[in-house]
Amino acid sequence: MAAETAIHEGFHAQGVAGSKRAEVLARVASMQHRTGVDKILLSSPKDMYREVYSLPDYAALPNSLGTQNPQFPNVKF
Ligand SMILES: [Zn+2]
Repeated sequence: MAAETAIHEGFHAQGVAGSKRAEVLARVASMQHRTGVDKILLSSPKDMYREVYSLPDYAALPNSLGTQNPQFPNVKF
C-alpha cells in the first residue's frame, strides 16, 4: 500500500494535479501498479470517476484543466 501511495503522490508531484481528472489518473496509475496490468478495465476508471466526483475533498477542483503532461501523452486532465 505504501508503494501505491508513493506512485499516486508521485504523479501529482510530476504535475498531474489540480483537477478531478488528474485525481482519477493518479488512481489509475496506482491501480496499474497494484495489478501489474497496463490496460485496466474501463469500469474501474468509471468507478473512480464516480467516487472522485462525489467526494467533498475534490469538489472545489475543476473537472479538467485542459492541460497535458509528457507522462500521459494525448491525455488531458
Ligand atoms: Zn490524489
